[in-house]
Amino acid sequence: MSPSSTPDWSAVRAQFPILSQVQSNGQPLIYLDNAASSQKPQAVIDALVRYYTHDNANVHRGLYELSARATDQYERARGRVAQFIGAEENEIIFTRGTTEGVNLIAHAWCSKNLRAGDVILLTELEHHSNLIPWQLAAQRHGATLRFVPVLDETGAPDPTALPAMLTPEVKLFAFVHISNSLGTIHPAEEWCALARSRGIATLVDGAQSAGHIPVNVKDLGCDFYVLGGHKMCAPTGIGALYGRAEMLDELPPFHGGGEMIESVRYDRATYRAAPARFEAGTPNIAGAIVLAAACDYLDGIGIGHIAARDEALTRRMVDALNSINGVRAIGPEGPRGALSSFVMEGVHPHDLVTAASEYGLALRGGHHCTQPLMKKLKLPGTARASLYFYNTEAEIDRMAEILTAIRKYFA
Ligand SMILES: *Cc1c(COP(=O)(O)O)cnc(C)c1O
Repeated sequence: MSPSSTPDWSAVRAQFPILSQVQSNGQPLIYLDNAASSQKPQAVIDALVRYYTHDNANVHRGLYELSARATDQYERARGRVAQFIGAEENEIIFTRGTTEGVNLIAHAWCSKNLRAGDVILLTELEHHSNLIPWQLAAQRHGATLRFVPVLDETGAPDPTALPAMLTPEVKLFAFVHISNSLGTIHPAEEWCALARSRGIATLVDGAQSAGHIPVNVKDLGCDFYVLGGHKMCAPTGIGALYGRAEMLDELPPFHGGGEMIESVRYDRATYRAAPARFEAGTPNIAGAIVLAAACDYLDGIGIGHIAARDEALTRRMVDALNSINGVRAIGPEGPRGALSSFVMEGVHPHDLVTAASEYGLALRGGHHCTQPLMKKLKLPGTARASLYFYNTEAEIDRMAEILTAIRKYFA
């Protein structure tokens, strides 16, 4: 399939074996929880099996053929992931996922750069993974957190707030690229440029943008970008942190242990340059190699096609939700991520999601790891339907039927 021609989406869907299953109650699975984790295509599953069937050995220290092969594949995977987001190979650190990437920076960067009285700026839309690590860092260093306010349920940031909030005591601005609970797409390029012009470091939480829209970290102009593999067709337990080379080189280690050292004495050690400095212990070798396979897979379809598909399906979904009596879709009216939070009058999100499961429909309900945001918007939580390119128009239409039936049942 060449990235220029529009993919045959039903052939693409057939590459995901899990999607053709029937649930225990006889209902076909309708998987609309992609913002929590994506499914995996056969090509990615095969890459995992291939690695463990043919190439498994520890990396970097073995002088035998198998280890050399594993090492070669692991390091090539770094280059592949770098290419996927427009970075250089030495700017990619493999992590367990988005959360670990944020924690790495919240430790390493903050221990070098954050002082008492400093401020870390976030937005009110942050996932707990891009909030708690900064709370902990602020406590360690005597710093405080401030938040760019969200206007209302549309998820739009207050447009006038940011320039006034980028004050001299702000040292780092960390924000979600695409909100996992409202679908807001933040103007990351504009925000990173504004922050940089004032000497403020930036971290972009790319958990919902990587694999969904074209991402080029150099165009974004961020200092750090974090992603998790499991939301972009790769396994759980693998992710990547991009750090601008000049930024990474000056950071102290996060975890200590094998592979990140240059030389060790009993009382002290010297450390290798990035990225090795930040990869202590045996890494998730298979995960990295398979993450690269997922990048190949997604680029094979074409991220542009995926983004267009996401957009078309999302528009249909939001319209379908709003057409159901008693249902209100929440989030931006214009462009948004491939998801919609919604509320159903008189039905608690947990009850709704449990009822949906009876029909084979997988949704998520609750605070979506954004508890303070739900509180601010005075919502008891929401139900959320989230899409990926392998979902279908028919599934969205069926979702609307199911929700209509649930609404009738509870009314
Ligand atoms: C899922 C998610 C995270 C956490 O990502 P992991 O890779 O699972 O650690 C962080 N931020 C956002 C916006 C997310 O959607």
